[in-house]
Amino acid sequence: SVPLGFFGGIGAASKQGVLVKGSNYLEELNAIDTIVLDKTGTITKGSFDVTHILVKEGSEEEILRLAAQLESLSNHPIARSIVKAYGKEKLEGLKVSDYEEVSGQGLVGKVKGESLLVGNEKLMKAHNLSVMDTNELGSRVHVAKNGRYLGCIIVADQVKEDSEKAIKALKARGIKKIIMLTGDRKEFAEYIGKQVGVDKVYAGLLPQDKVRHLEKELEEGKVAFVGDGINDAPVLARADIGIAMGGVGSDAAIEAADVVLMTDSLSSIGDVLDVAKRTRRVVT
Ligand code: ADP
Ligand code: MG
Repeated sequence: SVPLGFFGGIGAASKQGVLVKGSNYLEELNAIDTIVLDKTGTITKGSFDVTHILVKEGSEEEILRLAAQLESLSNHPIARSIVKAYGKEKLEGLKVSDYEEVSGQGLVGKVKGESLLVGNEKLMKAHNLSVMDTNELGSRVHVAKNGRYLGCIIVADQVKEDSEKAIKALKARGIKKIIMLTGDRKEFAEYIGKQVGVDKVYAGLLPQDKVRHLEKELEEGKVAFVGDGINDAPVLARADIGIAMGGVGSDAAIEAADVVLMTDSLSSIGDVLDVAKRTRRVVT
């Protein structure tokens, strides 16, 4: 039978906005020494705005329009920002064929007989296209048509207000290593990583690369992974403790996770670690 203290712990956690799916997870939280965080939607808000459109060939209007046409079929937060910037109503009745969403890279498809590519540098490279150089801060969405590179859209996301403070507090609670994983490009990922004070940043990762990095950490310690389930559901499932964002997270992530943060705030992780510690004291 489960000690009463653990039930109390689950109740205490839920009062802090944290859903713990079983008392065994509270016990396991006490042993966590490494926390691996996804970037988009976890450390950052995961809601993007289009800030710049940079033209190599064609026009701003064309680049945004072509991107929005493919992005209208995607649920990624970057996709939503581009569709919104172009105007959802202008995309009604649009036909896209040969559409494919390449996880952690972007989109491929055909519109009105034209072959389109919309995504990051990795996607462009896979089609033998080189991308333009820019200095704007943010994530880059490159656009190509019929094998020609047209330009890129800069989309900006923001670090959540309490991410830095929450990460500091986790270290103060004795978490030894805090790592950020992302499919975004290195320079921007490192800029975000520095801003919030993680110990290490691994960027340019595909979902399977994220799993590999997590497995390396699992060999060395007890690991919690925190993500929103968009391109990181396999990592969430593989961690000792999988923690999902309850608000912005995908349904699959919330289902697969052991712990769900209803507030989407990283500070809640510290709260649930405190509850876990107090619960242990009551039981032993
Ligand atoms: P993170 O690892 O930071 O959570 P994702 O794994 O969701 O981010 O995406 C990784 C990268 O893949 C993004 O930074 C973006 O460059 C690219 N990407 C993924 N989906 C799309 C999309 N629908 N449109 C454009 N780019 C995309
Ligand atoms: Mg993600």
